[in-house]
Amino acid sequence: MTEFGFIEQIAARFAALPANGFEGIGDDCAVLPIGNREALLFTTDLLTEGVHFLRAATSARELGRKSLAVNLSDVAAMGGRPVATLLSLSLPVDTTDDWAVEFMEGYRELSERFGVALVGGDTTRSDSSIVINVTAIGRAETSHIKRRSDARAGDTIFVSGELGASGAGLADLLAGRYDTPLAAIHRNPQPQVAEGLWLGTRPEVHAMMDLSDGLASDIRHLLERSHCGAELDTERIPCAAGADLRQAVCGGEDYKLLLTADAAHSEQLAADYRARFGAPLYAVGRITDGGGLVWRENGRPIAPSWHGFRHFD
Ligand code: ADP
Ligand code: MG
Repeated sequence: MTEFGFIEQIAARFAALPANGFEGIGDDCAVLPIGNREALLFTTDLLTEGVHFLRAATSARELGRKSLAVNLSDVAAMGGRPVATLLSLSLPVDTTDDWAVEFMEGYRELSERFGVALVGGDTTRSDSSIVINVTAIGRAETSHIKRRSDARAGDTIFVSGELGASGAGLADLLAGRYDTPLAAIHRNPQPQVAEGLWLGTRPEVHAMMDLSDGLASDIRHLLERSHCGAELDTERIPCAAGADLRQAVCGGEDYKLLLTADAAHSEQLAADYRARFGAPLYAVGRITDGGGLVWRENGRPIAPSWHGFRHFD
């Protein structure tokens, strides 16, 4: 069974159980309205040695930062403010004290940068690989929450940064080139927390998610949940220096935001974003009524053979 097939099975099997006020499975975070126009957001991510990282290619400090960063990105993707995390670690017996201290230091650095408390977790021994699980909790005004399911036909599709650097960095790592600038970008994702919060306040932003698996794969989740189609213009996709279009579209782990906004206000949104963050929002296409996902090159439909991101496996 594929990862997404499994998630669908879970959603179906548990659908009849009480939701206790939560919105259902399927977005970057689970949402629990708590009254007073506020909601809590919950998200969790697992990093497994050999699948998500190679111990020899990633310092413990970088891994500490990254394991937190990918969760903060999911909170940002809903327009929320991350407030706390729970950290669970399964460490092989041969893990050195130095490794553990460096890991915690990286985790602490990023927690401090984003004002996030560490409020719990679990620590166990592992027979083989390192396994890291982080749960992040965020808060948001209910009216600021952005979901994957709210894209509307006619919306402009934006990405909030250049794509492909992480994928190109992964290619470097897999080729044994650990010291390149792109490999460093892959190991040090920067969650767009301030950007997500700001976009949350903008009513013309309809749908939002973060780009963890690559645009080609992630846009499909947004379209499925919004019951829409899309046209993406390949020549407008912002490829990071050193990355090619395939890496920009399929590379994964860029942790930029993917959003859709009312076309009538999208130029103003991009101008305000640039004034606020000194960086562009890149318009890469538009949401359509149906017709699935169409890739275009200079206006002409093309049929690329793009596949989603698969980490190391
Ligand atoms: P993301 O890439 O944003 O972390 P995923 O693609 O991992 O999201 O997951 C998609 C959705 O499926 C999310 O809403 C997530 O909470 C849910 N999900 C994934 N795995 C499980 C699981 N084992 N049990 C329940 N829900 C899950
Ligand atoms: Mg996500």
